[in-house]
Amino acid sequence: MVVVKANGYGHGAIEAARAALAGGATWLGVVDSSEALALRAAGIDAPILAWLHDPAADFADAIAAGIDLGVNYLDQLESVGAASGLANVHLKVDTGLSRNGATEAEWAGIFGRAAELERTGAIHVRGIFSHLANSGADEDEAQVARFMAAVEQARAAGLDPELSHLAASAGALALPHARFDLVRIGVGAYGLSPFDDGDSAALGLEPAMQLDAGIVLVKRVPAGSGVSYGYRYETEAETTLALVPLGYADGIPRHASNAAPVSINGKTYRVCGTIAMDQFVVDVGDDEVAVGDRAVLFGDPSTGVPSAHDWATAAGTINYEIVTRIGNRVARTYES
Ligand SMILES: *Cc1c(COP(=O)(O)O)cnc(C)c1O
Repeated sequence: MVVVKANGYGHGAIEAARAALAGGATWLGVVDSSEALALRAAGIDAPILAWLHDPAADFADAIAAGIDLGVNYLDQLESVGAASGLANVHLKVDTGLSRNGATEAEWAGIFGRAAELERTGAIHVRGIFSHLANSGADEDEAQVARFMAAVEQARAAGLDPELSHLAASAGALALPHARFDLVRIGVGAYGLSPFDDGDSAALGLEPAMQLDAGIVLVKRVPAGSGVSYGYRYETEAETTLALVPLGYADGIPRHASNAAPVSINGKTYRVCGTIAMDQFVVDVGDDEVAVGDRAVLFGDPSTGVPSAHDWATAAGTINYEIVTRIGNRVARTYES
């Protein structure tokens, strides 16, 4: 399964879904019905699982569109069972992340009720799944064991799910025995590492997203010029400043002010001063930079440009947050 939630991790959900299916994915994963229905509206008819629903969700549209539904708790199971049409359900069990999913104490109740609803023809339990905390080898192993216990308990309750699934990118890469019948690959499918070192190349991954912008203004300024709001940067000598038309409204983290790398004409500089809503400044010294030259914020580091991980480090976050937050004003173009 390739996970295309959150607008395909910022890359564009429909394009990411099409690329994933062309690349061999057999399932798509999203958060809720609206994300799933948008894929259906684009003509994508592959199996889709949606797993986090508004408490007031009406599941009829999703069921009619053939969307599989992740179910977390008993009341939700009742809503899905009561909605018209046969719902394909994946029961989500909490094996130690303490986020969504039924707790161990709830398993007996939810499995028993699911078996009843299956007998009445309201639902079909196609899957059982959980999610890892990636908290360390021992903790992951404990979750794998609890997951296997949950699957066994579901079978004992009369369910016969075809798909047991636990691993996202990190688990799929690091824990082969956690792959079960299906892996739910998000960040890795976009060529980014799910691990702390952010080293895509070490995993054979190639980042799909490059974020760049044409420089809109270049100016010479004297030594001692304060740059951007609050003058958090001051030029040391006469220098050239290049203005990049991207800001925090576009998802460029303000926390990366004065820190994040930017590549222009093959050379890497740093953001100087505060990142504003729509723009930030790069001090390029005495280098020749012209209006229209491309400033590459991040892309595939094997091409010599900074990585999303470099931006994440500068902003005190993770590569996931860098790509998923790229805003709507930023035009996406696609190359195959
Ligand atoms: C987002 C998500 C994934 C994908 O995680 P990655 O770490 O990006 O691979 C998988 N499963 C669930 C339940 C998720 O919410």
